[in-house]
Amino acid sequence: MNKIYFDSNATTPVLPHALEAMLPFFSDRFGNPSSAHVAGLDAREAIETARAQVALLVGCTEDNVVFTSSATEAINTAIYSATDSGRTRGRVVTTSVEHSAVLNYCLSLEKYGFEIVRLGVDENGRLSLNELEAAISAQTLLVSVMWANNETGVIFPIEQISDLCRKKGVLMHVDAVQAAGKIPITCEDLGIDYLSISSHKLFGPKGVGALIVARDAPFRSLHIGGHQESHRRGGTENVAGIVGFGVAADRARSELFERAAATRALRDRLEKTILEEIPGAYVNGGATERIPNTTNVGFAGVDSDTLVAVLDTEGLCASSGSACLSNSIVPSHVVMAMTGSYAKAREATRFSLSHLTTEDEIERAISIIARTVTHVRNVSQKAL
Ligand code: PLP
Repeated sequence: MNKIYFDSNATTPVLPHALEAMLPFFSDRFGNPSSAHVAGLDAREAIETARAQVALLVGCTEDNVVFTSSATEAINTAIYSATDSGRTRGRVVTTSVEHSAVLNYCLSLEKYGFEIVRLGVDENGRLSLNELEAAISAQTLLVSVMWANNETGVIFPIEQISDLCRKKGVLMHVDAVQAAGKIPITCEDLGIDYLSISSHKLFGPKGVGALIVARDAPFRSLHIGGHQESHRRGGTENVAGIVGFGVAADRARSELFERAAATRALRDRLEKTILEEIPGAYVNGGATERIPNTTNVGFAGVDSDTLVAVLDTEGLCASSGSACLSNSIVPSHVVMAMTGSYAKAREATRFSLSHLTTEDEIERAISIIARTVTHVRNVSQKAL
């Protein structure tokens, strides 16, 4: 692809090493991991190798890892496990900037009578620990927060949130989809009960995720069937996908600091130059600790959906935070929660880089973005 791909928080390409490791599992090594013969054993061993690789990436033990079809499934399973034990009532504390996998699951819980507290954030995307503490009542079953925000890259203070949850004796789920492979994760040390991650955000294949479950945390399976995943998820495993996930996780762990430093330098350069050269540009969450690959920029008066569409024709893939709801476009709920401004939410454009991003791409992107913002502004002014 000759395009400049600045949408790595949406998905990433499969690492060549991961693809190479996966291929035999589509042909020669096709055994069912549940079969009691040599072909089955081969597939089982490959899954266990991947389990160890994923466990190392997030700092847990192998038997904590349950492979799923996506982070969405992992997230749903975590919330289901913490809330469904014959209960019809209880409180779940989360934030208003979570991914829809959390927000929409919580919406469905609300319909069944659960109380959902969605904590707001400040204009820099920060969560107030005092507000969080006050929201945890005796009825609270679970606190579900993200480690890093997919739209702005803003990092929540997971260590302090985890201390708070332990002090209050409530279960904690962390959506670590955008953090895994970008910053160090020490799941077991922090005493996190549930943690969700996704393969395709860290250069593994799509259709695979993992839920990390602490040994003493309640677990309820969403997939009722066979005994796979130690009776925690029925259904024959996606062996090739899991193998690719394992290799990608292994690489992400061994190259973590190197990738982060290189990506951060390029992200900072992109951001600084945009702010210096494009009038009316501002960064959402720029004053907060963020994952190294993400910048969320608003260009005053420029609609991000239009900008993203025109950038695409210029060979640059970026993203707006808008979502499609009942046939209408709803602007970024994250920037809306941060700023309370519909105009700013409509202006939010995300550029998410990776270790594959080059200096040349940054230079080309800067001139494409500057040119496109001017063009979109001119066209919208003429239309007035
Ligand atoms: N959580 C966050 C923060 C995400 O960014 C995403 C994907 O964009 C998900 C959850 C869902 O991941 P998956 O595509 O594996 O279901």
